[in-house]
This record gives sequence, C-alpha cells and structure tokens, in this order.
Amino acid sequence: MYDVWKNVLAEIEQQISAANYSTWFQGTSLLSTDNGHIIIGVKNSFFIKQLHNRYLDTIKASLEHNNVSVSDISFEVSSNAKVTAHPREITHTSVAPIKSHISKTKTELTPYNSTGLNQKYTLDNFIVGSNNDLAVSAARNIIASPGDRYNPFFLYGGPGLGKTHLVQAIGNEILKAHPDFKVFYTPISHFYSDFIDAIQNGKGKEFNLKFRKLDCLIIDDFQLIVNKEKSQEEFFNIFNDLYQLNKQIIVTSDRLPSQIKTVDERLASRLTWAGAFDLQLPKFEDKCAILRAKAELDGVNIEQEAIEYIAENVNTNIRDLEGEFSTILLMSEVRGITPLELIQNGSVNINRTSKLRPTSAKQIVDKVAKYYNLTAKDIRSRSRVSNIKNARQVAMYLLSKELNVSTPKIATEVGLQNHTTVMHGIRKIESDIKTDFTLRDQIDEIKENIYG
Ligand code: ADP
Ligand code: MG
Repeated sequence: MYDVWKNVLAEIEQQISAANYSTWFQGTSLLSTDNGHIIIGVKNSFFIKQLHNRYLDTIKASLEHNNVSVSDISFEVSSNAKVTAHPREITHTSVAPIKSHISKTKTELTPYNSTGLNQKYTLDNFIVGSNNDLAVSAARNIIASPGDRYNPFFLYGGPGLGKTHLVQAIGNEILKAHPDFKVFYTPISHFYSDFIDAIQNGKGKEFNLKFRKLDCLIIDDFQLIVNKEKSQEEFFNIFNDLYQLNKQIIVTSDRLPSQIKTVDERLASRLTWAGAFDLQLPKFEDKCAILRAKAELDGVNIEQEAIEYIAENVNTNIRDLEGEFSTILLMSEVRGITPLELIQNGSVNINRTSKLRPTSAKQIVDKVAKYYNLTAKDIRSRSRVSNIKNARQVAMYLLSKELNVSTPKIATEVGLQNHTTVMHGIRKIESDIKTDFTLRDQIDEIKENIYG
C-alpha cells in the first residue's frame, strides 16, 4: 500500500518545479489511509503548514488518481519519515487538526538531559517587553535567590506565549548560578505517568525520594492535571515537603488554579500564595523586537518592513509569529528573493485560514447551535435573548477565524443586516476569551465537534 506514495510523488514531481519538489516532498511518507483519513509523515512542523497551504489540492488529486479515497488529509511529524516497515510505530507527535501547524515536537526539543531542561532556552534569548516584564523580573529574582521571595512561582498565560521558554530558562540559569543545585523540569503529564510506573514497579519510595531531593522543581502545563486522586495527592505532598524546606517550586498553567475544575482547593490556593504572574499577548513593538532578535540569533537578513508586516499580521501568539517568520525565510531561500519581495509579490498570505480539514459556513453555524442546544434558525433569528446572542457571536467568531469569511458574508450567514454588528461581535469574543476560560473551553470543544 505504501508503494502508492511513490506513485503519488512521481506524479507530483511532474507538476511542480524540481526545487519545490525536493524542498517540500523529499522525506515525506504515507502513514495511513484508513477510511479515507490520510496521514502524511513530514520531517518537521514547518512542512505541515507549507504542504497544507500550497499543495493540499495537488496531493489530494494525485492520491485520487492512484485510487486512494480521500475524506481528509492531515500531517504528522515523524522522526524518520522514510521508514515504512511499521509506519504507525514511528515516533511522531500528532498535530491536532485545528491547531494545525508549528507546534513543538519532541524531536525538536532534544537534547534532554536528566534535569529535563533544554539548554536552548535561556534568558538571553527571551525578549522582554510590556507583555512579560513583571514575570521576567520575578524570574531574575528567583535565579538570584531560589526558594525565597517568589515561591511558589506560578506563571500562567495562553498557549505559545513563552511559559515553557521562561521556566526552562529559569532552570538553566539557576544551574549556572548554583551548579550544585538539583533542578528538575517535567510536564505534569510525565509526572503522572512516571508516578504510575513507579507505583506499578514497586518503586514508589524511589520516586518519592527523587523529588524530595530537589532544590528546584518545575512543573509545566499544570492545567492538564486530571482528577486522579492518588497522583494529585502525591504531587500535593511533594509540594508541601519542598515548600517547607524552602525549595523553589515553579508551576506553569494556561489558567489560574482556581479555574481548573479538578484541582483540590487547598492545592489551588497554595499554588498562588506568592502571587500569580501572567504572560500576555505581545504588542506590535514586542513582536517586532522578538523577530529582530530572532533574525540576529539566526544570522539572517530580513528587511524591517518584512518584520513589521509579519508583526502586524500575526495576532495569535509568539509560536505562530516564529512559525510565519521561519516559513517566509524558507520560502525566500527556495525562491531566491528577499522576504520583502515575497510579501510584495503577493506570495505571503498570513491571514489565511488555519484549519486542516474542510468545513463550511453552514456546518459551523449548525455545530455552534447544537452545542448551545439551539437550532441554526435560532441563531439566524434576530433574537437578542442573551444565550442566543452569545451563540451567534461565537458563530461569527468561528466563521471569521476558521473560514476567513468576510464580515458582510458573516452577517448573511447569521441573519444580521449590519456588518459592523459582526465586527463588534467578533471583537467581543476575542477579548472575552482572554479572561473567560469557560468560553475558551467551549470554543475549543465546538472546534473539536467541527473537525473531530
Ligand atoms: P508556551 O509554553 O506558553 O506554550 P513556549 O514557551 O513554548 O510557549 O513559546 C513558544 C515559542 O515562542 C518558543 O519557541 C519560544 O522560544 C518563543 N518565545 C515565547 N516568548 C518569547 C520571548 N519573549 N522572546 C523570544 N522568544 C519567545
Ligand atoms: Mg509550553
């Protein structure tokens, strides 16, 4: 079956330039075709977005020519995209369809050492701006005297805003300043699985000891804590023991502990005893500074206008900002023209839709309605009852973000006459989800319903 991919590639090779073919398709593989769900393995996450935006139709057509039925296509980073013997066993990080691109993969994050830290994250390459200056100043304080004033250090903020980078940098800098310290970084999910493993192998004691010997424990993505009583209790105990010994505890999360449903109230309150620091969306100047610094670090030339264009157009987070930046540089290299020239000749389109699976405006309205126990007709009615109005705004938001539908067209889809009402509605949701985590979860769930 995987010979099919050879044929597909041969066909694509005929259709596009040799340079593009070798840049984008070499090292790809076909991981699965089950029930029309096509999964293509790629070398790293940059390729996902490029292949999706530029070649999805080409790939689909060529698969179909080769008698493979296609209902949707997704991409996964696989550490060796050429291995085909046991394709599903390749270590890969699947990329959620909606989030689509540029997510950190495990392979990119190596090398790890026993501290769990990745040395590429430093404070020097963490750009300070108005979006993160308080957190960075606390971080400097912690590095100078761990376990002292900002303990526990609780850092929260949306995805891609630099939580992992900053706490890893703290860990690395603590080790530089205090080489004899025992520092350990772990995502909460690994903490869990290690704990369960330890218990199952009768190594509970060792697990316990290992953590209690630490001078600094860094727990990432605490919001993923689940309601497994035993391991939450274990974490709580470790937390208390380390805290009493004045050992530094650092925890990140995408929201405040009190907003995580499954967390024990006492633990939630302890986590923010020393305050909670947040990372916010970077402002235009912050984004330019980050890109400028990145260009310098990577030793690449990019025009100031090109940087400003990217900064103006990426409004999601820093991860996406870096993703666009790298994509544009890669394209510029492939085509042999400068980033600004690429932008000027219309080859760059940042504001495109981020979905990987096809959906329609009607489907979005239907799913939103269903989620809120309403009908599409309710949404299109002029009703101003608050739950209907809210659902309508969510629908408008998703139509804009997921399908890039223009505001006048959105107005038609949701039964409004005035497209400024649409703009207002979209902005309201954009601003509400920054603080309203229930709404954010709801929107994530609706997206899952749409694409899942
Ligand atoms: P989070 O853990 O909040 O999801 P990450 O720490 O993984 O986010 O950051 C996403 C990407 O953005 C990383 O590549 C990180 O290095 C980069 N980044 C985030 N904030 C900054 C910053 N202030 N300066 C430089 N790079 C940053
Ligand atoms: Mg992170």
